Amino acid sequence: MTTLIEHRVPGREMLLNRYNDPDTCPTDALIPVPLVEEKAFISWQQDIPREYLAVSPEELERRIRAARAYLGERLVILGHHYQRDEVIQYADFTGDSFKLAQHAAAQERAEYVLFCGVHFMAESADILTRPGVRVMLPNMAAGCSMADMADPDDVYAAWDHITGALRDSAKVIPITYMNSAASLKAFVGQREGIVCTSSNAAKTFEYAFARGDKVLFFPDQHLGRNTGYEMGIPLDQMVLWNWRMPNGGLTTEQIERAKVILWQGHCSTHQRFSVEQIEKARREHPGVNVIVHPETRWEVVQAADQVGSTEKIIKAVREAPAGSSWAVGTEINLVNRLANTNPDKTIFCLDPVVCPCSTMYRIHPAYLAWVLEGLTQGHVINEISVDDDTRKWSLVALERMLALP
Ligand code: SF4
Repeated sequence: MTTLIEHRVPGREMLLNRYNDPDTCPTDALIPVPLVEEKAFISWQQDIPREYLAVSPEELERRIRAARAYLGERLVILGHHYQRDEVIQYADFTGDSFKLAQHAAAQERAEYVLFCGVHFMAESADILTRPGVRVMLPNMAAGCSMADMADPDDVYAAWDHITGALRDSAKVIPITYMNSAASLKAFVGQREGIVCTSSNAAKTFEYAFARGDKVLFFPDQHLGRNTGYEMGIPLDQMVLWNWRMPNGGLTTEQIERAKVILWQGHCSTHQRFSVEQIEKARREHPGVNVIVHPETRWEVVQAADQVGSTEKIIKAVREAPAGSSWAVGTEINLVNRLANTNPDKTIFCLDPVVCPCSTMYRIHPAYLAWVLEGLTQGHVINEISVDDDTRKWSLVALERMLALP
């Protein structure tokens, strides 16, 4: 019998060879293999019971489906678009971080939410779900390198310096991207600030400038710069706070002149895209539509035809006429899925080196099987729980975002 996984991975043998080629990125092939054979497993959460390490993809699928059926409506599985196919197939709801936050908030019946995404998303789900709902992350090592660039202590120090330098001459409103620790969401909640996603960043800038004179935006400099520029703020009025340098590397005069102070953070996956890749795509595919995520660099966004969140990218490609071609600047699992589900169009990733978000990739089906089978035995594994004070203030910041028109 041909398994679901074999159906979904044409050319598996060829991909396996590529997977074992020492000269390619270990995640290049994007094929299901037992957890112990994942090249990067050594740096992932290791306390998963040994019995899960060598289980075949087919057997994992059978066990996950059995546990899922047993748990029924008590469980909801949320899946971010950047998850691999072998994980996203189990999601009751898929989406970007904004859409998944809305799904988490809307859960009325579930006792458990299993969040197939990264740590900050599961924290937001815990904050937004009703009390008593228990949120789990399959693999606790699935963080976000961008979120990690905004260490809360560094942000608190930056805030003190910036507000001290301005001495009440201007009011600063902090905006944090969804991709940040819950403690930073609480920090902005306490200071009239707001959370944003790539779907609604412009609206959060409008919110902030209706209440203050300047924005401190963290952790993604590119989303902040692209949003500010689109709203008419000149580049020279957006300065970069380098958290590795004393006083962010800025003078008081630079802080006074700035409209937006951008945190020096970035997404390792989206920062790979370049103008050269766009030029190459246009040379090789005349008439191609180039669409990129706003976490890409400013010059890449300027060179592209369209910019948008993952939800916007999906909609643009889905609604495009048959025969059109698309070069997409976002995470490869999503691009591959778009290509597979839109066979009447030519869809490819702008970056020829296929490299997925390495932390999203840490959600392997073995972790799902472990956590779900634990739940069937009454054990909650890898629970994400935000303390009450952090929850209270981060909820304020998240609800400001969810209330935006
Ligand atoms: S794609 Fe970038 S921003 Fe998104 S989780 Fe991965 S590292 Fe973080």
